[in-house]
Amino acid sequence: MSVLPFDKRDGVIWLDGKLVPWADATLHVLSHGLHYGSAVFEGERAYDGVIFKSAEHAARFRTSAELLDFEIPYSVEDLMAAKDAVIRHNGIKDVYVRPIAWRGSEMMAVAAQNATVHVAIATWEWPSMFDVAQKMRGIRIDIAEFRRPDPQTAPVYSKAAGLYMICTVSKHKAERKGYADALMLDWQGRVAECTGANVFFGKDGTLHTPIADCFLNGITRKTVIELAGRRGIPVAERRIMPDELASFDECFICGTGAEVTPVSEIGPYRFTPADLSRAMLDDYAAAVRAH
Ligand code: PMP
Repeated sequence: MSVLPFDKRDGVIWLDGKLVPWADATLHVLSHGLHYGSAVFEGERAYDGVIFKSAEHAARFRTSAELLDFEIPYSVEDLMAAKDAVIRHNGIKDVYVRPIAWRGSEMMAVAAQNATVHVAIATWEWPSMFDVAQKMRGIRIDIAEFRRPDPQTAPVYSKAAGLYMICTVSKHKAERKGYADALMLDWQGRVAECTGANVFFGKDGTLHTPIADCFLNGITRKTVIELAGRRGIPVAERRIMPDELASFDECFICGTGAEVTPVSEIGPYRFTPADLSRAMLDDYAAAVRAH
């Protein structure tokens, strides 16, 4: 499969307050964000030109930076306007939106108190999977070796670039074994989340999901909980150990990228996507376009 590299595409990218040609949105190799992981990002989707939960993403973006001890020099409103401008200029209405902020080049050591914070926003086409029948067959998921870190060892509520290091390694291992993704346990061995999505399980008309106490409480996760509530489906947020997976009938993952994606296997455990997954898949698909 040949995919056009991300630095060779057309369009504009918002960089530090201005729309610049795609090719000009560059940074120097001596950037603190690259060497020391002082970078945070967002992942959003626009449907028919409107970003789903744009304000929430912008607020999380700013919080992620604060957790890494830097401040994004733009307000939620500024960021929302910038994202809309990129979408408008690039002229494609169903896109993935990627804001990223990083510390620049003034200081190149662990401490970087005075390094300038840069912000860029790019968009690219990333169609959601429309074939519901195919989605309902479910994806196969491996169980990762790496665990989500203890909140005392990392800024786990930040969507920090550095926290994705273990996700990339875990996902690569899973893909080499033919799986679509990997389920990560947390530092205490409880079920946590996938490499870029949260996870839900279903049985007897109830949804169960791990408490987001050491990983991202995804905007999609919160949306699913709200949508389930509207249907009267109870959601139990609780500690789930891996051996309990045998007792669930259904499983799906959810995130901005994954949307709601049913799961058929996690390691040795089997699930059959059914009514709960279908309800959440349909409700989420409707919610993101309800504007
Ligand atoms: N966990 C991880 C590790 C993620 O990368 C994502 C995607 N941002 C999520 C959960 C889901 O978050 P959201 O629903 O806000 O996209």
